[in-house]
Amino acid sequence: DNAQPKKPAWIRVKAPTSEGYKATRDLLKANRLVTVCEEAGCPNVGECWSQGHATMMIMGEICTRGCTFCNVATGKPQTLDAFEPGRVAHAVQKLGLKHVVITSVDRDDLDDGGADHFAQTIRAIRHRAPETTIEILTPDFLRCPPSALEAVVEARPDVFNHNLETVPGLYHEVRPGARYFHSLRLLQRVKELDPGMFTKSGIMVGLGEDRQGVLQVMDDMRSADVDFLTIGQYLQPTPKHHAVARFVTPDEFAAYEKSARNKGFLMVSATPLTRSSYHAGEDFAQLRSA
Ligand code: SF4
Ligand code: SF4
Repeated sequence: DNAQPKKPAWIRVKAPTSEGYKATRDLLKANRLVTVCEEAGCPNVGECWSQGHATMMIMGEICTRGCTFCNVATGKPQTLDAFEPGRVAHAVQKLGLKHVVITSVDRDDLDDGGADHFAQTIRAIRHRAPETTIEILTPDFLRCPPSALEAVVEARPDVFNHNLETVPGLYHEVRPGARYFHSLRLLQRVKELDPGMFTKSGIMVGLGEDRQGVLQVMDDMRSADVDFLTIGQYLQPTPKHHAVARFVTPDEFAAYEKSARNKGFLMVSATPLTRSSYHAGEDFAQLRSA
């Protein structure tokens, strides 16, 4: 049965039309950069791009994994573009971003999972735009040597984000190819390597998890010293993707946010349209000035 619950009124998306949106789009296009905003069909694209905030995706548009919630194509990935770190840094500088989020596809085809390319991109942005704070949203570096993760941490991003995406019981159908405890351990390892670095993770809800499961994920994250948490409603990108089990109500989101704050997260965003990178810059600036 493919019948999907009807989209409720609180999932409202404005069509992107503003001048700022177009300026961001044109600059990204001119620099041949890929964004998650577009690839994932993110509902916040109008708002984010009109404010010059975008999440760039490096290492190509083809992923070696096939997560069932994700709209990115799966297959044999492109060869790495050695000039990409420079182009990303150029765009960050041109857009005048205060905070940038850099993510990537999974590159299980590379020995280091693309860690060195990530590190180079961070360094290139630091060089071109030293005032910009850098948040990275990384793959899990499963089956890579420990030096892969270490290289990324050594490049010193301001925020290290790796999403757990869902509760462990749903991994086989939502995130096949990934391992819950590996991802959790990765977050903990970042903190061990550099206790001054902020760590962040997130999950989607409405995939079939229950409340108790979500609270357990929060506890797991806190035991790995994760600082920031995002929780958003899962939306099905196409009918071929994982079904939406239900739409979590704004009140339930508010209750999640309250529980998360009580558990000690420094920053929490839990709303239907929260995405991993939604308002990341504003939230981070607030935290730093607090
Ligand atoms: Fe892009 Fe993130 Fe904003 Fe969505 S929330 S449009 S992915 S920056
Ligand atoms: Fe999408 Fe990331 Fe999964 Fe690849 S690893 S399918 S990009 S969520």
